[in-house]
Formats: sequence, structure tokens, C-alpha cells
Amino acid sequence: MGNCCSISKAHQDPPAAPPPTSAVVVVPPSAEPARARKSPAPPAVGPVLGRPMEDVRGSYNIGKELGRGQFGVTHLCTDKRSGEKLACKTIAKRKLTTKEDVEDVRREVQIMYHLSGQANVVELKGAYEDKQSVHLVMELCAGGELFDRIIARGHYTERAAAALLRTIVQIVHTCHSMGVMHRDLKPENFLLLNKDEDAPLKATDFGLSVFFKQGEVFKDIVGSAYYIAPEVLKRKYGPEADIWSVGVMLYILLCGVPPFWAESEHGIFNAILRGHIDFTTDPWPNISSGAKDLVRKMLNSDPKQRLTAFQVLNHPWIKEDGEAPDTPLDNAVLNRLKQFRAMNQFKKAALRVIAGCLSEEEIKGLKEMFKNIDTDNSGTITLDELKQGLTKQGTKLSEYEVKQLMEAADADGNGTIDYEEFITATVHMNRLDREEHLYKAFQYFDKDNSGYITTEELEQALKEKGLYDGEEIKDIISEADADNDGRIDYTEFAAMMRKGNPDPNPKKRRDVIL
Ligand code: ADP
Ligand code: MG
Repeated sequence: MGNCCSISKAHQDPPAAPPPTSAVVVVPPSAEPARARKSPAPPAVGPVLGRPMEDVRGSYNIGKELGRGQFGVTHLCTDKRSGEKLACKTIAKRKLTTKEDVEDVRREVQIMYHLSGQANVVELKGAYEDKQSVHLVMELCAGGELFDRIIARGHYTERAAAALLRTIVQIVHTCHSMGVMHRDLKPENFLLLNKDEDAPLKATDFGLSVFFKQGEVFKDIVGSAYYIAPEVLKRKYGPEADIWSVGVMLYILLCGVPPFWAESEHGIFNAILRGHIDFTTDPWPNISSGAKDLVRKMLNSDPKQRLTAFQVLNHPWIKEDGEAPDTPLDNAVLNRLKQFRAMNQFKKAALRVIAGCLSEEEIKGLKEMFKNIDTDNSGTITLDELKQGLTKQGTKLSEYEVKQLMEAADADGNGTIDYEEFITATVHMNRLDREEHLYKAFQYFDKDNSGYITTEELEQALKEKGLYDGEEIKDIISEADADNDGRIDYTEFAAMMRKGNPDPNPKKRRDVIL
């Protein structure tokens, strides 16, 4: 919806507002045209997600349409078991004509899993594939698109725009610190959790998003015309391009029309490359110089000079009546390592079992982060690499603090963190909400299948995992043993695992445009 409306009625010339801001993608020269259909025998394993096909209607009732984008149609859906209202985005497989299309959907799922648990990112509950479609079941954002709110308002006051921008830039920072570039930031891809005036904003549509490494250079032209950064058009870009897109959003929030406008896509691109920003047309003469300064710095044509997310949050205009962070923003890896460090050995061992049960798509993002930190590709992270990795993300830690984190993650005490140890220590706690994971972990400890974990069983399991550090097993048990019978049943186990864990608060068609 909304995508076909204009942003402001006040502006006639140029015609107000982005018409449908569909994503445009240049097919790389090597890309093949639409492929022949798959062989007739339907495989048990879905070709997109690479795991057994499953009927989403088995677990959810699909209801009315909520919105649609270039690829997906999103419907309201209800969890048959819990009655919870969710959203289901359905991507028709017949639209996925190239290998890149399929990879984009797979990556969309991996990235949503990787970012799940982050505030202000739509939470992915599950991904399903059947013969015709891929379905992403997500948290419901009943307040609709930010795009429609902008239209309803015409434009925002500076104060309201600053508050929104703060959230949007925090989200961008989170994505970047998790090694993800969104590549399609625009008001249609920010949803409101509910219909309230101050409803939380959630980023969605990671259909064009990619994992990136420091210094990696991207070449494909993707994004939606109005929001594409000049260096993207020049096929040489990195995460700074996201900040440009948010700069375009800020301009639209403040005046209701996009900064780079033309009748044709080609014209829009020329305007972007020219980089001239109009501050003379109404309402700009009445907008503060601070706001203009920030717009200019976010829309700096040179990505190296453009403000970073952190710098945007520290700009005087945004700070004016909101608190700006003076310490580096939260770093997901660091927070998770810290959280892991605080756990007892029992919980750590259980997490290790659970990490081993996670699907490829759930841990793909962490795998990418591991590779990023393991700069010499040795398959293990050394103390130095960990320090470097965290510093790259803007975190300053003392030698002692890094050592402590290292020791916490290094389960076997060999002085380095291997892949399995890294996943165990950084997997987000919201993965624990999956009953089957918890149950697998319980069964791992309950060796004799009695329904109880005893002190002997726990000791044996910890030794097996190389996690027995001489801590009194009885003490660990008693921590979880709510009914004081000296052993742990499944309910007590699940409660212990969940306790103290903070509440976890697209694909695009590849059109040829050149
Ligand atoms: P596309 O890749 O096709 O652009 P999106 O992920 O942007 O797909 O989803 C298309 C539209 O569906 C969104 O713009 C929005 O209107 C609606 N939508 C998507 N996710 C949700 C959600 N979690 N809750 C409510 N509506 C949603
Ligand atoms: Mg979209």
C-alpha cells in the first residue's frame, strides 16, 4: 500500500514525492536470463532454503493482506497454537528467476536471524518453503509503513524528525556493527509496531542486504532510485551508502519531497551524481541551519567525508533535545560475550549443545563475524584478533577486559577461540525460546532419560565438554533446583536457561536499468 501515493500535496512542481520506489538492480553482466524450470520431480528439500519443505499453513492461519513490496506480499497470520498475531511475507518462487534472486532470499533469512533480538529490527520467527513460495513469519507491525505516516503528516516537525532519525541511525549502527549493510533503506521499509503516535519503529526488508567485511568494496547497483548513493551508481561502495539513504530520508521527513528528483530514473541518477541539494524552496528557509548542516553532511558525495552513524548521533541538531551517546554504541559481540561470561558452567554447556543444533541459516551471520575477526584465516581467534575485532567496531577495552572475555569464550582453555566456542558465546539468547532446542539440551544432560538431571550426570557432562572447572556441582544444581529435591527436571532447567536473559526486546527483482 502507500507506495503509490505522493508524499506531499503541497508541492506541485516538481511533482511531490517518490512514486513507487521500487528497487532497481542491475543484472551483472554475467547473470543469466530467466532459467528453465526445475526438473519435474519435486525435491523433498526446498531449493531456496535448502531444507525440507514445510507447509506454513500447518502452524499458522493466514489472514488479510497487510502490504506488498516488489517481491513479497505480506499477510496477517495467527499462530494456531498460541493465537499470537504475526505477519507472513510470502515470496513467490516463480519471481526468483536467477541464481542471485534465490541467494538474495536465502540471505534475507540469514540476516534476519542474525539481527533478531536487536531492538528496532523486525523479528523473524520462522522461515518456510513450499512448492510455490517462501514464507517469512515475523513479528507483526500493525502500525503500517513509515512512508504512509509521512504522507499523512505532509512532513515532520524538526523535533519529531530528529527523534525518528535518532532511532533510524541507531538501527543502521546496529546493522553495521553486526557486519550487515541494509542497502535498501527507505520509508517503506520502516514499519511501526502499532498505531500509536509514538509507536516503536522497526527496520524490515533485508532482501537486498549483505554481509560485509571491513574495507570490502561492493559493485552491484541495488537500492531504490531516490535513495541510492552516488558511489553505488559508480559501482564502488561500502556501508557508508546506508547513511546516504538515511540522509535522503531525513530530507523527505523535513520537507516532504525527495532531494534528488526527476521524471525518469536516469534523471534521478543524474541529480544524485550532481549532488546539488535544494534548500531554497519552501519550507527550507524556515528550517534551522543545524538541520541543513546535518542533511549536507549525510549527503556528502564523498563517502569518506560523510558522517558515520556515530557522528550523526553526536551532531548538535540531533542532540538538541535528546541525549547523544558519548561512549561507543553497543556492540553486539561484546555484549553477548559479557553476558556469556556471567553464566555458570551448566548454562554454558547447555548453550554449547544448543549452538550445535542451530540451522545453517541461523548462524550464518555469526560465521561471517567469526571470519571477520579471524583475520589470518587460521580457524581460531587469538587474543590479538579479538582485541582488533572489537576495536574495529569502535569498542575500547583494556587488555584485562579483553583477556576476561577471551577466557570466558575459550571453553577448552587452549588460549584461542575456535568456531564452535565463538558461536556458543555469541548466539543470541532469544534462540532459547525455541522449545525443541531447550529440550535437546536437557536430553543431553539427562543421560539415562529419567526426566531428571542429577549431580552425577551434570558432572559427567561438564567433564565431557571440558567445562568442569572444579566448581561445586551441588552449588550449580541448587541454583536451578527450585523444589529442592537435589535434581533438575525439565521445567527447572528451562527456567534456569531463560532466567536473567534480557527480553529480546528482500528481496528485490533485478531490473535492468542501464
Ligand atoms: P519487499 O521485499 O517485497 O519490498 P517487504 O519486506 O518490504 O517486501 O514487505 C512488503 C510490505 O509488506 C511492507 O512494505 C509492509 O507494508 C508489509 N510488511 C512487511 N513486513 C511486515 C510486518 N512484519 N508487519 C506488518 N506489515 C509488514
Ligand atoms: Mg520493501
